[in-house]
Amino acid sequence: MPSDRIDTDALFECRMCGNCCKGYGGTYVTREDIEAISRYIGTDSRKFVAQYCQLSGKRPVLAQRPDGYCIFWDKLCTIHPVKPPMCRRWPFLGSLLVDSKNWQIMADSCPGIHTDVPVRTLEKCVKKILSKER
Ligand code: SF4
Ligand code: SF4
Repeated sequence: MPSDRIDTDALFECRMCGNCCKGYGGTYVTREDIEAISRYIGTDSRKFVAQYCQLSGKRPVLAQRPDGYCIFWDKLCTIHPVKPPMCRRWPFLGSLLVDSKNWQIMADSCPGIHTDVPVRTLEKCVKKILSKER
């Protein structure tokens, strides 16, 4: 029987190195993310934004520690079940459908990315993952 399971292992296997949780331009959080993460860590939304976010323009992003890591990184993501969409999608980002060369660029900082994969396979996988979020 055909399966619609997304098999990403041939494309990517996380090595838990934490590189993607360091030095981001900013991990944006939506109102829904703020509520979900606040509930998960047992605080309220207002305190969460004050203590765990910084502003990028007018939009809240997850704060970074002085060492450049996300405030929720501690050898692993401590909010894994409720982490923001950008973190959940990584490395299968929509920008790969615009230019698949981004895969190689991302692989420079993400040792879990396999670079010897056909572009069509990668694009199919990204499309499937994005469509499951709608
Ligand atoms: S950089 Fe890649 S391999 Fe390292 S933790 Fe992030 S996703 Fe996993
Ligand atoms: S929320 Fe988790 S996965 Fe996202 S940057 Fe922070 S530690 Fe990394």
